[in-house]
Amino acid sequence: MNSMKNQETNLIDTIVSFCKRRGFIFPGSEIYGGLANSWDYGPLGVELKNNIRQEWWKRFVHQRQDMVGIDAALIMNPKVWEASGHLKEFSDPLIECKKCHHRFRADQITSKDCPDCKGELTNSRQFNLMLKTFLGPAQDKASEVFFRPETAQAMFVNFKNILDTSRQRLPFGIAQTGKAFRNEITPGNFIFRTREFEQMEIEYFVRESEWQTSFEYWLEQMRQWLRHLGVKKWHEVEIPEADRAHYSKRTVDIEYDYPFGKKELYGLAYRGDFDLKNHMEKSGQDLRYTDPETKEQFLPHVIEPTFGLDRSVLVALLEAYHEDQAPTTEEGETEKRVVMKFPKWMAPVKVAIFPLVKNNPEIVAKAKGVYDVLKMNFVCQYDESGSIGKRYRRQDEIGTPYCITVDFDTLKRSGNITVRDRDTMKQEKVKIKNIASFIAKKTS
Ligand code: ATP
Repeated sequence: MNSMKNQETNLIDTIVSFCKRRGFIFPGSEIYGGLANSWDYGPLGVELKNNIRQEWWKRFVHQRQDMVGIDAALIMNPKVWEASGHLKEFSDPLIECKKCHHRFRADQITSKDCPDCKGELTNSRQFNLMLKTFLGPAQDKASEVFFRPETAQAMFVNFKNILDTSRQRLPFGIAQTGKAFRNEITPGNFIFRTREFEQMEIEYFVRESEWQTSFEYWLEQMRQWLRHLGVKKWHEVEIPEADRAHYSKRTVDIEYDYPFGKKELYGLAYRGDFDLKNHMEKSGQDLRYTDPETKEQFLPHVIEPTFGLDRSVLVALLEAYHEDQAPTTEEGETEKRVVMKFPKWMAPVKVAIFPLVKNNPEIVAKAKGVYDVLKMNFVCQYDESGSIGKRYRRQDEIGTPYCITVDFDTLKRSGNITVRDRDTMKQEKVKIKNIASFIAKKTS
């Protein structure tokens, strides 16, 4: 039991060092000794993260007539946070050790004394998670502003603008992806909980009578997205009334078995008309929807599916990581290979191009020609160093679905190149003129 637990905890250490070694994710500000719990996405990490964000946007915005997107400012008028209740209520219970002064979230520790030094703990007090800064040269109360703790409020604040400009009719949704900031008491577990992170959120507006069907519909959409992301198993947790926000009649958390325990990945909440009602009251603007037929005016109710982008990246990395054996010789000798089995649409590099040898100018020119054509539509890498086996291993490790080798056969009239599949390790011959459509078909 213990050794299983160790293996699982080790997986996160393995992923952290793998991410650094292969350029997915680096510790933030590393040359200055880092900044606790901040992480920088490297060349491969940024491609992976962009692919997930773009796929989400394609699926939930571009492919739907009932959805529009926005990209709002990170810093909003502080009245937004007053109306949403964040300034007053967006807090976690904080306790501190009187001896070592380490701080903990009261709801996350079970012992009566300090988990680090067994010292005595203070009583818990509410700690507001809003990250504060100042706009303009004066650093006084009047210029105090906050980095947004969620993307959601911008959708409510722009509700009227969208109604006036997009001709959407109920039911419809507004989507946004972007950074959010929370002064978390206990960040940690790699990119699981950081103080700066990215969300992908939808506010879906419906008539009150439709909320239950819409809730079920969005739960199913979230399941389909999870499958598309390559997640095999998750838990849907119905949040009991006592733990729900007072305005919510139903909330479901999607939890995942991370190596450090079962914790939240995404959430789905019914928010009633709480947000629009508060913004209407506090701003004095009429945010009601007018039924085009009956002319009845009312505030729509809201279903909110919310997806953490960094947690999606973390889960994608955890699900993709595999170790297996790959053949190294014709005689059947094998060696350990690390292979990131990302879904093909998600892989940071889609195709790698190798000349069989680097000392044959004709083969090199042909391989570079293939690279120049493919790079127009796919993220590609050109690699001529080391044996073909080594080059395959390098690409397997970063999850590249296809490797192309240009060899002597390619120079002949047949014009065949060898395409090798990451997962099956099988090789097939493809005509050079067909390669772009072959890769497009396989990776879209
Ligand atoms: P948790 O219970 O883990 O603190 P939450 O319930 O406060 O999360 P929400 O307010 O519902 O989270 O935020 C929506 C989504 O944003 C979460 O499902 C998660 O994917 C992501 N998220 C929230 N806080 C963080 C964080 N500190 N770091 C990374 N992602 C986060």
